[in-house]
Amino acid sequence: MKSTGKVIGIVSNLVTVQIDGPVAENELCYITLGDTRMLAEVIKVNGDKASVQVFESTRGLRNGDPVEFEGRMLEASLGPGLLSSVYDGLQNDLTTMEGVFLKRGEYTDPLHHEKLWDYTPLASVGDKVIAADWLGEVKEGWLPHKIMVPFSFKGEYTVKSLAPAGSYNIDTTIAVLTDENGEDVPVTMVQKWPVKIAIKGYKEKPRPSKIMRTGVRVFDTFNPIAEGGTGFIPGPFGCGKTVLQHAIAKQGEADVIVMAACGERANEVVEIFTEFPELIDPYTGRKLMERTTIICNTSNMPVAAREASVYTAMTICEYYRAMGLRCLLLADSTSRWAQALREMSNRMEELPGADAFPVDLSAIISNFYSRAGMVILNNGKTGAVTFIGTVSPAGGNLKEPVTESTKKAARCFYALEQNRADQKRYPAVNPIDSYSKYLEYPEIREYLDENMGQGWVDKVAEAKNLVRRGKEANDQINILGDDGVPMSYHERFWKSELIDFILLQQDGFDPIDCNAPMDRQKYMLELVLDICHREFHFEGYEQCREYFKDMINILRQMNYNEFHSEKFEQYREELNQFLEKHGN
Ligand code: ADP
Ligand code: MG
Repeated sequence: MKSTGKVIGIVSNLVTVQIDGPVAENELCYITLGDTRMLAEVIKVNGDKASVQVFESTRGLRNGDPVEFEGRMLEASLGPGLLSSVYDGLQNDLTTMEGVFLKRGEYTDPLHHEKLWDYTPLASVGDKVIAADWLGEVKEGWLPHKIMVPFSFKGEYTVKSLAPAGSYNIDTTIAVLTDENGEDVPVTMVQKWPVKIAIKGYKEKPRPSKIMRTGVRVFDTFNPIAEGGTGFIPGPFGCGKTVLQHAIAKQGEADVIVMAACGERANEVVEIFTEFPELIDPYTGRKLMERTTIICNTSNMPVAAREASVYTAMTICEYYRAMGLRCLLLADSTSRWAQALREMSNRMEELPGADAFPVDLSAIISNFYSRAGMVILNNGKTGAVTFIGTVSPAGGNLKEPVTESTKKAARCFYALEQNRADQKRYPAVNPIDSYSKYLEYPEIREYLDENMGQGWVDKVAEAKNLVRRGKEANDQINILGDDGVPMSYHERFWKSELIDFILLQQDGFDPIDCNAPMDRQKYMLELVLDICHREFHFEGYEQCREYFKDMINILRQMNYNEFHSEKFEQYREELNQFLEKHGN
């Protein structure tokens, strides 16, 4: 028997319900208003009262309106067809709708039930299987999509029968499994999973041991993120968080991409709708959308949906990870999600934490980030979920609670700086404050030694140090004047400018410069360091400045041309001549 109740209080989309039976936290319910049934989620139970957040506008709702509890949590439907989809936080399919917005109380099916998939069995009759084991496979676009033993299955099962290879829709029984009590259970291509609970379905979650290439130098060269790692990009409004995330979505070395867009600007979500489907996958030349799922919050959905969307997005990633795929989850911006938590907490008149965010904000963020990771599946194969979120601290203040809590949870920190954005030094990632904790992992250092050459991490540290020293020299020059400091200060400053212009800055809108392969990143770092190692003998600071400006121009031309192309080599030769001419 499911519990029921009636509305006894309404504060915006927080509704208090008098309940007549047991109700659990995170349980779903429907509130009926006339002939509209609105979905809501229990956030707190207190005696015979439940506080529920309604995923809709509560306009017109009155005390006494009936509530039916569902006995289940908010779940994602998982199966072939998730890729290429555009959903809202409740997994309503936004692509099949007339117009962009759903009517209140209208919920659509996330997966297509008629579509046929070419299915091949992978297991054999008699096999002993447990949750998440692979039973069969369909081709989703060009990716192998595994049909797995549902994650909710407990204990061991025996495969009793398997559908032969063929074309089936997702509701077809593709296997019958017998449980330990001899009961037969059918398995289809769809399963459901509560979004707020992490999908296990793996044997081990070791520390990440590889880096995930993004093609963005401030990431890969300076502060690489691990495959299965976590990172975040805090930055004030307009500093390039979204542009950077889109570059990573496009170029990141992953099989599956899930974008959770909680847009800062109203038109951003519309842009994702229109622009993302046009993007070409640099790895396959096909549409990037074929291996992407977008979850976005339409502007007519209340704050509660933002929270649902990040969880739904993570659940979809975990599902694909269990197939042995590398998934990349991007959430822009997680501050919007935290604000939703704050609004709810304030409406419930809970004792507030810092800046009126809920006291458990840190724990909520940490729990979420900890769902990312590299895993070893039961069959020994690996899968990964790499997570990068953006944070938009009010006024760019990095001491605010969301940034501070996220800093504790994420292993990489890419601080976007207003100053650099104002100077159009994109991506505006601060080279001194940003970090990747993966550079301290012995596994990652070994990986980098192997793939980027012995001592790579030391070279990176040297480049960072040169940038830091250049900034210090520049501070002195600004205080004491060009003539008030020794020549070496000017040289030091210009060496750091060289690193800045050639390695840190990257033109996100140039078709070649936007995406740098690793061998190219290695080549350029070593080339720039080689120049920095030279001792120059300038007659004055003007000469030093002109010299470095000319050199930066040549090196930029290298960045704009295909690696090792004729043009690239011509500029390389020009650089040699330039260095020689000046006696270096
Ligand atoms: P945010 O998401 O932080 O508010 P956006 O990503 O929307 O900021 O960036 C704001 C603007 O800054 C962009 O429209 C673009 O003009 C410029 N910009 C950001 N990043 C880059 C980049 N890598 N290269 C060139 N321009 C950029
Ligand atoms: Mg943005």
